[in-house]
Amino acid sequence: MSSPAKPEERGPLGFLQLCADRRYHRKTMLAFEQATGLRPDEYWVESRAGGAPSYTDTTRAARVAYREGATRMGWAAHGDRCWGFYGASNGEMRRKLVGTARSRVADFPRASHFVLFGEGGEVSVSEA
Ligand SMILES: [Zn+2]
Repeated sequence: MSSPAKPEERGPLGFLQLCADRRYHRKTMLAFEQATGLRPDEYWVESRAGGAPSYTDTTRAARVAYREGATRMGWAAHGDRCWGFYGASNGEMRRKLVGTARSRVADFPRASHFVLFGEGGEVSVSEA
């Protein structure tokens, strides 16, 4: 007989912050799911133009997700012209993202962190 799952039996949860760009938002989510093993209903998202580097500090959404048990956190941006950072090169976007991810690792020390960068139609993932 199965009983309702207790909260502590729940699988891992996550949080992903990404750019709203139509070319990359879906690919970024799929790459995050593949890297973390999370299902679409196991992580929160926060999105706007510019992605993770557009937020200078932690956001309420990220803090709430972390408090609610998000242990796999993704920080995403992309090259190939981002409307959030007009005129920034791919290299500049990548450097901004790496710097942001480094800050968030310090902000949320109990989570595993993933850096996701879209370029040339592909999204690469690395652990921060
Ligand atoms: Zn963008």
